[in-house]
Amino acid sequence: KMGNATQKAELGRSTWKLLHTMAAQYPEKPSSEERKALYQFFKLLSRLYPCGECAAHFQLLLKQYPPQTSSRVAASQWACAIHNKVNERLGKEIFDCSNIEEKYNCGCDEEGEKES
Ligand code: FAD
Repeated sequence: KMGNATQKAELGRSTWKLLHTMAAQYPEKPSSEERKALYQFFKLLSRLYPCGECAAHFQLLLKQYPPQTSSRVAASQWACAIHNKVNERLGKEIFDCSNIEEKYNCGCDEEGEKES
């Protein structure tokens, strides 16, 4: 059982890292195609997430709090809030969402920034 819990936690950390980094990199002014893509990504993730119990809970959360796709800020704040909902359920600390975009900068900004 110890191994299972460790693997589940590891999968969770990796997934949250991806989700928050995606949101931090999402366009400030997304097209309707980009909006649809992000929305569907979260919906599909909630069906395909490898931990079945987690997926079931996440599906319910998404019904209550639909993915926000109108802008980078909206998506990042939504992802932080939904992660906090999971934190709450698991008895974890609530995370401060105010500096979320800086924390999850992936270092892969293609506009303006030259690789050095
Ligand atoms: P994590 O919650 O994995 O967070 C990783 C790091 O992100 C933290 O150390 C912190 O630096 C930062 N962080 C914390 N909160 C936020 C936030 N709100 N916004 C941005 N950054 C933040 N586990 C279960 O046991 N049962 C479940 O039902 C379950 N459902 C899950 C559903 C989804 C969609 C995902 C992605 C994971 C789920 N997990 C579930 C795993 C769980 O959320 C944790 O990932 C795991 O327990 C490891 O927790 P952790 O304390 O290392 O921090």
